[in-house]
Amino acid sequence: MKNMNRRKFLSVSAIVGAGAIMAPHAAVATVSAKNENGAIPTRVLGKTGLKIPILSMGVMRADNPAVVRAAYNAGLTHFDTAHGYQNGKNEEMLGEFFKDKDRSTFTIATKVKANLRSPNFETEYEEQLNTSLRRLQMDYVDIFYTHAIDSLGELNDPRLLKMLQKFKSEGKVKYVGFSTHANKPTQIDEAIKTGVYDVCLISYNFKLNILSEVDAAIQRGVDAGMGFVAMKSMTGGVEDAAGKRKVDGAVCLRWVWQNKNITTTIPGFTSFDLLDNCLEAAHRPDLDANDKKYLAGLIDKNETLYCQNCEKCVSDCSKHLPIPTIMRAYMYNYGYKQPTLSKDTLMELALGINACSGCNSCTVKCPSGFKVADKIAAIMPVVDVPYSFLT
Ligand code: SF4
Ligand code: SF4
Repeated sequence: MKNMNRRKFLSVSAIVGAGAIMAPHAAVATVSAKNENGAIPTRVLGKTGLKIPILSMGVMRADNPAVVRAAYNAGLTHFDTAHGYQNGKNEEMLGEFFKDKDRSTFTIATKVKANLRSPNFETEYEEQLNTSLRRLQMDYVDIFYTHAIDSLGELNDPRLLKMLQKFKSEGKVKYVGFSTHANKPTQIDEAIKTGVYDVCLISYNFKLNILSEVDAAIQRGVDAGMGFVAMKSMTGGVEDAAGKRKVDGAVCLRWVWQNKNITTTIPGFTSFDLLDNCLEAAHRPDLDANDKKYLAGLIDKNETLYCQNCEKCVSDCSKHLPIPTIMRAYMYNYGYKQPTLSKDTLMELALGINACSGCNSCTVKCPSGFKVADKIAAIMPVVDVPYSFLT
């Protein structure tokens, strides 16, 4: 509890509540002290009308309810999970934490991937939502995203649109949205055309190489009433696979908040220190000259973890492998240190561990400098590792 006298600690303790005091002291004290300076700025999420702090919690990787508690007590109100995160344990953790909280003090988003190839898609999709609601111990979620949309054919599939509208009319979800990493401008325009989607969860960070196109599409979405939530704002959190070159997350968040069309960000902090770093940013959200200099120093480096999803590699590759998704799985493992999520992502592709077998030389030329074949070889073996050995 260094840097904090007893009087100040007691006043802060009153703010954060008894539960948070049980968490590691140094971290909680720091988090709480930052919260004394006033509320986190809020923005409205498009036509949903939801007023949300610019900082939300991406719960994806968090497995410590004390971190969720600290975030909630520090003034965060929006929490983002998914049906598949931690094999459902992520939703269960949130359910346990929020079961005795006033439902008007928080909003929850969850996501389910639509398996449109299945002949039983409708039944399966509904059962997955029902399972998520059971785990969350809630009658409804505030935002239900169809997860990781890769193509326009998915986004505007009439069966999917019908199910989303059904969930909404039954009151199981308040608003519907989609999450996407690829073809963002086209996906946003298509989503506007459907008239169904209220919210878009989009990968958005200072390294985006088609920033002006993405910003213009976001503006069109906002004009049509859609709300935008940013993810992958820290470009993977680290710059190298060894995790040694850390990215300053606070600066990355400030960069995102420059765009007033982005309502909130969902960084996936897992510790009190990382939460503190995000709160520090939220309480001083304007990007300054030093921040700009820092980001400029990162922008020209060859990428190691953050894939732009430009999809050039897919046409370069003799087997047309879904390389952007494999690169995302690589980032989950080496950037986020989440091998289970990495394995889940790869299992959906059903490629086996020898995805490149039979191909003698790699023809992919990635503009970001990724050595794609090496990364594929490094990540695919996780598919064969039993879940019990993974975190
Ligand atoms: S070419 Fe490189 S940056 Fe573009 S999608 Fe493929 S791996 Fe990602
Ligand atoms: S080595 Fe792999 S990624 Fe490269 S062209 Fe061959 S199959 Fe595609």
